[in-house]
Amino acid sequence: MDLAKIRGNTQTLVSRLGPRGIGVTGVTKAVCGNPAIAQAMLDGGALGLADARIRNVQRLRQAGMICPVTLIRTPMLSQVDEVVGFCEVSYNTESAVIAALASAAICKDKVHGIILMVEMGDLRDGIMPEDLADFAKQVMTMQGVALKGIGANFACFSGLAPTVSQMADFCDLANEIEGVCGPYLKTVSGGSSANLPWALGEHATGRVNDLRLGEAILLGVEPLSGDQIDGMHTDAFTLVAEVIETDAKPTPSPIAPIDPTREPLRIVTPSAASARMILAMGHQDTEIPGLTMPVGSTLIGATSDHLVIGTLRPLSTVGSEMRFQMNYDALMHAMAAPDIEVTLLGEPSMRPSRLPQGKVNHLALM
Ligand SMILES: *Cc1c(COP(=O)(O)O)cnc(C)c1O
Repeated sequence: MDLAKIRGNTQTLVSRLGPRGIGVTGVTKAVCGNPAIAQAMLDGGALGLADARIRNVQRLRQAGMICPVTLIRTPMLSQVDEVVGFCEVSYNTESAVIAALASAAICKDKVHGIILMVEMGDLRDGIMPEDLADFAKQVMTMQGVALKGIGANFACFSGLAPTVSQMADFCDLANEIEGVCGPYLKTVSGGSSANLPWALGEHATGRVNDLRLGEAILLGVEPLSGDQIDGMHTDAFTLVAEVIETDAKPTPSPIAPIDPTREPLRIVTPSAASARMILAMGHQDTEIPGLTMPVGSTLIGATSDHLVIGTLRPLSTVGSEMRFQMNYDALMHAMAAPDIEVTLLGEPSMRPSRLPQGKVNHLALM
């Protein structure tokens, strides 16, 4: 992973959104709360961090990070103590959970911040807009918690980008909640990377003062189109795998996949490629269809531990490396895979954060 590119991507977004009154919260869930990446986001100007899982937040805290960290998935009831312990603020949609957070916070002599997640059409998590004011009033009466803001989420579940009118409705809700509850809402978080076309578009961004950005910072792309965002690095991450066999194989007769519901991973007929390479990487390590093949090579297929690649002529020898770019799913999967070793570029002073001690791995994420 190239930390300078992560920092650069964050800087680019911070400088474009700043004039519109929008701050950037860096989302670390796709990199499992990797502290070096998190620090690169902060160095690039992110005001705080957010993650969906408390284990990832714990990883950030264990690395000594003291910046504000927000839990952006509504907490599990079974984890409220940890949520209050590790996060200043969490996104919430259930009053039973908020009550449990409040009790946990009182026990620790803390006040835990609550951002209410509003359902604006994505149909995943969220409080219905018509119930929001009552919900907010209820939070206002509780000890141990403080209402810090409201948040919306788009495109995650539905795949639909937010419209100008949905965003205007969301801003109206912020005003309504302030009318009902009194205090100024510190955070009005409009959404994720999928909100960038809206946020950088022509119309006013209203009350929205925060976006939670993961994919755009990490991969430099706009999630819905997959297009590169102007001036951003799309190659901050590279997946490196070792070649373990180079051979021509007889053309096999076509075979049906064993599990018919599973997409057969046969992108080209093997006969189209005269040489094959086998790499020590498979479904256990990443989301294979999310890899971009190097020029001159084609994906023939994969199993749990092998990747079969076709080339017109042998590109590599046994023991050499091949490099791949990843999409979001491939990155997320690779970062969570136990056999992937993380190597950092651009920050020699930072210690690799996920190097299993005393172990040599054959895959490297650079
Ligand atoms: C994952 C997530 C984000 C960040 O999404 P990106 O598309 O990576 O920017 C923001 N908000 C919530 C609630 C999320 O779960």
